[in-house]
Amino acid sequence: MRLGDLIGQTRAATALRNAITRHRVSHAYLFSGPHGVGKSTAALAFAQALNCDRPSPDDPAAACGQCRSCRLISQGTHPDVRLISPPGKRETSVIPIDRIRRDLVYDINLRPAMGRRKVYILDPADRTAPFSIHTILKALEEPPPYAVIILVTSRPALLPPTIPSRCQQVAFQLAGIEAIVHHLQTLGLDAPVAAAIAALSGGRVAWAVGAAHHPDVLAVRNALLDLCAGLHARAASGGLRLAEEIKLQALALSQAQNDGEEQTETEDASSESGSAPAAAGGGRLRSDLPWCLDVIVSWYRDRLAAAHGAPLVNPDYAEAVSRRKSGRIAADERAIAAILETKHSLQRNANVDLALESLAIKLLAEPATMRSSSHSERGRAR
Ligand SMILES: [Zn+2]
Repeated sequence: MRLGDLIGQTRAATALRNAITRHRVSHAYLFSGPHGVGKSTAALAFAQALNCDRPSPDDPAAACGQCRSCRLISQGTHPDVRLISPPGKRETSVIPIDRIRRDLVYDINLRPAMGRRKVYILDPADRTAPFSIHTILKALEEPPPYAVIILVTSRPALLPPTIPSRCQQVAFQLAGIEAIVHHLQTLGLDAPVAAAIAALSGGRVAWAVGAAHHPDVLAVRNALLDLCAGLHARAASGGLRLAEEIKLQALALSQAQNDGEEQTETEDASSESGSAPAAAGGGRLRSDLPWCLDVIVSWYRDRLAAAHGAPLVNPDYAEAVSRRKSGRIAADERAIAAILETKHSLQRNANVDLALESLAIKLLAEPATMRSSSHSERGRAR
């Protein structure tokens, strides 16, 4: 991956490329931005660009991706590029202070073994052991000229203000949906599937690529949209069952992502996109439910969009979505409000079962005339 190939991160990539071509590489960087947008990938791409043996003659910031240095960095075995992350996959685990002392504070004094630069990537930098901040600050204070320290975080507010103030800050953003669709198509996905995944990724490239590798994620999305399409045929008293079905899909999502965990990135695909270990139990369910609720919101959002002829989030469900009676807009808006309220209450640690049941009852409580009039099978992304 070259800096120029980062998806939807033109500004960050340009800043890093300029640093190299203008010989103004800083000794410390803070890569911040939402989960799953490519910060960890960018850190490795930057390390490659700094150490590539055969950069393009036209563009010294373009790593070749083929030389020994580039390959060792991709494999995580370059002696001068250290990825310092918490051990294991539990979200509560932190980078131990001994590791920071050994792999950063002590190691930084040794000259590069084979490359031009020693690169230290702390990822995520907001998950370090208590009292290790002073140790990191010390490393940031007087690094040798060959060293570059990259702190990666989606939660910069958790870092003490003294840390960002000593780093060059590089902000990453959610990528545009079009850019993600295009990228997924280059990975070999059909246009409708790419569009469905991109729309649900919310601009998080790492999540989209992870979902592209795991058809189960798309199956959960399809199951939830099928559930929505069939709501009109359900009795208003079926709230408990509906809540249970939504919960089952969230559990299936946890399972699907857990199976493919090794394919995701360190910081880019953790917590929010749901890569915590299954052992986290309720925590895992709580972190995957919001995504399921987003899928359900996208259904109601599409019904409103269809009424106005606007583009749909789920174009493969266009037929089902457009089967609507007039005068239902208010009901769809109430449904969206109820789902968003449920998401908020889950964030505030509400009881998962009670919150879901309450939502399901509201979704089923709309008068029959306000719900859709018919339903049947449709072509959908698989
Ligand atoms: Zn190279």
